[in-house]
Amino acid sequence: MFSRILIANRGEIALRVIRACKEMGIETVAVYSERDADAIYLRYADETVCIGPSPSHSSYLDIPRIISAAEITDVEAIHPGYGFLAENPHFAEVCRSCGIEFIGPSGEAIKLVGDKSRARELARSLGVPIVPGSKNTLDGENKALKIAQGIGFPVIIKAAMGGGGRGMRVAHNDISLINGYLAARAEAAAAFNDSTLYLEKYIERPRHVEFQILADREGNVIHLGERDCSLQRRHQKLIEESPCPILEEDLRRKMGDDAVKIARAAGYTGAGTVEFLLDPDLKYYFIEMNARIQVEHPVTEMVTGLDLVKEQIKIAAGQKLKLKQEDVTFDGVSIECRINAEDPAENFKPSPGKIGVCFPPGGIGVRVDTHIYSGFTISSHYDSLIAKVIVHRKTRGSAIRCMRRALDEFVIEGIKTTIPMLQDVLSHLHFIRGEVNTGFIEEYFST
Ligand code: ADP
Repeated sequence: MFSRILIANRGEIALRVIRACKEMGIETVAVYSERDADAIYLRYADETVCIGPSPSHSSYLDIPRIISAAEITDVEAIHPGYGFLAENPHFAEVCRSCGIEFIGPSGEAIKLVGDKSRARELARSLGVPIVPGSKNTLDGENKALKIAQGIGFPVIIKAAMGGGGRGMRVAHNDISLINGYLAARAEAAAAFNDSTLYLEKYIERPRHVEFQILADREGNVIHLGERDCSLQRRHQKLIEESPCPILEEDLRRKMGDDAVKIARAAGYTGAGTVEFLLDPDLKYYFIEMNARIQVEHPVTEMVTGLDLVKEQIKIAAGQKLKLKQEDVTFDGVSIECRINAEDPAENFKPSPGKIGVCFPPGGIGVRVDTHIYSGFTISSHYDSLIAKVIVHRKTRGSAIRCMRRALDEFVIEGIKTTIPMLQDVLSHLHFIRGEVNTGFIEEYFST
């Protein structure tokens, strides 16, 4: 096992990784930008290194600075968290060429699943259902138009290297297809430095259902059940839960088997997620695989009793998975709410600033993963996620009641957050009945 790990990330996920390391007896090195000098996670690490100024590209995204920090502090492995360099195949390769273990899949596997168009093709070749769409990437708006007309509107144009809901445009007719193509291309070029696009049929009113995968380096691959992440704003998740309230055992088994098939064929190792859309007729379609620990991983931890970050570290250290598929059991219902520093009344505009009094909820069944505290300043340089409230109870009804109580308790003064909107969603009859789809927030809560 490793004796010392560097965490190439910040915020709640840096703290999350430190917690796993402490319990495993592994020393930690935390890195930080000048803006994060007062970050709470730095107090929990064994050593800290400032890696540059506030903008991410000069700190958390700067590979040479992170590798230097790793070399100076003599770590054996780097945990990338999520976001930043987590799915950068070049970073994974640089780490390994410097003799530092990257806690994640190989650069090759990241490359394969990170190209959503290639991942689609892989799924298709394995007989896993994919959304009808372009066979290859798109070559100009006129060809895209022809393909869209062939498939039938509505369609969705997506960036091959996309993520975080960016580089996507829905088109309902010829004109919006051309405009959407140009807008998605520009957005993809700016956000991902790659303007390659592909196109899919736009599935109406689907649920987003994803499977958590664990794969070791000896070819053992299992799944840890699913998460329903249908509650989204602008194709970004706000509430996640496990299990999916409408999934019957048969369908769960089928989707889980397909998820494992994809991970195995991709030569995937570590923790990953295979994402599907589930339409109102319960037909499912693979959409992409994510090569990282996800923000919403705690709901899977709560229902399976496993620590996914520890599992990642053990796999990276070359250990074999102890669990077989039949050993994985599920207990109760877990829900996660993402608390973002955003103003839901202003179309989720970021709401950075100094927090006044901050007091997180607690009590039976409540877990809070956060890095904020009274007096902490939320910077506009980074993601607006400031806390994750996770509940775990025996039934979905009691989990919802527990979450409402927990959000009620959460005191965060001085900035706007998504809490009031989340409370409205949790009280909405359709949510309580489990009748949701990816358009739910836009339908009921758009301003
Ligand atoms: P990203 O990598 O940016 O997160 P995904 O491909 O995972 O993008 O899709 C994110 C969300 O976008 C999905 O959860 C869903 O809400 C929506 N979406 C993606 N593809 C489709 C589709 N073909 N039809 C309908 N909605 C889609």
